[in-house]
Amino acid sequence: MTHTDILVVGAGLAGLPAAIACAENGWRVTLVDQHDAAQSLPEDLMDQRCTAIGSASEGLLRSWGLWGTLCADAQAIDQVHVSQRGCLGNVRLKADELGVAALGHVIENRRWVQSLRQRAHEHPLIDLQTGCAVRAMTEMSTGSLEVTLSSDKTLTTQLLIAADGVNSSVRELAGIIAKRTDYEQSALLTTVRMSEPHRARAFERFTATGPLAFLPRPDNIMSLVWCLAPEQASALAQANEGAFSAALQSQFGHRLGQITAIGPRGVIPLVRWEAQIQISSRVVLLGNAARLLHPVAGQGFNLALRDLASLLDMIGHRSGERPADPGHADLLRGFVTQRRSDQRRVVLLTDALARTFRGKASLPGHVRALGLAGLDSIGPLRTGFAMQSMGYTG
Ligand SMILES: Cc1cc2nc3c(=O)[nH]c(=O)nc-3n(C[C@H](O)[C@H](O)[C@H](O)COP(=O)(O)OP(=O)(O)OC[C@H]3O[C@@H](n4cnc5c(N)ncnc54)[C@H](O)[C@@H]3O)c2cc1C
Repeated sequence: MTHTDILVVGAGLAGLPAAIACAENGWRVTLVDQHDAAQSLPEDLMDQRCTAIGSASEGLLRSWGLWGTLCADAQAIDQVHVSQRGCLGNVRLKADELGVAALGHVIENRRWVQSLRQRAHEHPLIDLQTGCAVRAMTEMSTGSLEVTLSSDKTLTTQLLIAADGVNSSVRELAGIIAKRTDYEQSALLTTVRMSEPHRARAFERFTATGPLAFLPRPDNIMSLVWCLAPEQASALAQANEGAFSAALQSQFGHRLGQITAIGPRGVIPLVRWEAQIQISSRVVLLGNAARLLHPVAGQGFNLALRDLASLLDMIGHRSGERPADPGHADLLRGFVTQRRSDQRRVVLLTDALARTFRGKASLPGHVRALGLAGLDSIGPLRTGFAMQSMGYTG
């Protein structure tokens, strides 16, 4: 039986930085994922899902030595426009006015996973095992957890970081219940190429059907998350390109000219999943395994990175003083206490935005517009909103 200080389950968006940052801190890490690493990237940029990270998240990645690996492929966001269809109120956040180099960046999910898996593979303190999952786990009286993998290998660990996504099998094995809330909406996901340059601008537009986010990507491509009633989303996903373009253009307007190409379209249901507790004996849940949020305002992954930062602090990242036992119950309880208010704030914010700006159940348009106009004209409110968008807390 082998021993590893920290076992990270799930080599996805959240698990990879967790494993690498722990190893950089001197811990021996085993990283497992059920999918093989050899997933090739689609050649076509239009095919890729992406995620917006705020400049605070960029700072964290930089402090963990990861930004250098990721920045070459990231698209900077210099401006964010928040507006409401049919109303004058809007908010414009500009990096230069706020004194930052960029408000955030857009990363391509698969490129992120591919480059960080390569980093993990090359790291002398990481044992990366793909194509396997956790089959069983038992807490030992010796202050460790015994874990059996689907490859039949058994190992002991002091801390298990479960980053195995929304259907986390570790969460289930740990007996942690997750609560599901249905927003009764779906998100239509696609990419479009526009006739006019985006000039590093991101757009969040609140329409009668729900929020519509446009994120800038290289090559004048915009990544799109469009929240709609489920039946509207599936009808638009199946509509011919002309009808789809017309519907989208009527909601977004012509601020980036005409749609000249449309990538593959997909639909996902919008639900919130929240684990009732984030820790159990020697186990901590991270990323989607802990909570899956509505994608409005792009908060989920940024929150997961802040959770990771706090966990890393607990196990000695900033102080350099590593505890003897990274999975000690006091450390994990300290982590939960430290993270509670930020997590609550983000869950309430995304929930309120999702419900306020949702078709039938939403606030009247003029009330929402007033909110946006007020936000734009009152300096401190606007700065607060900007700090929030960039992922700064406190
Ligand atoms: C449409 C949409 C847009 C979004 N946009 C943004 C945004 O702009 N900004 C933002 O901050 N957040 C955004 N989010 C949230 C963001 O996508 C999540 O926070 C992020 O994906 C969480 O990553 P994760 O690593 O926890 O999960 P995942 O990315 O799902 O990774 C889970 C990993 O675990 C592996 N795995 C699964 N099961 C097992 C198992 N049993 N054993 C071993 N391995 C397993 C999987 O193969 C995968 O590699 C968005 C979400 C959606 C749905």
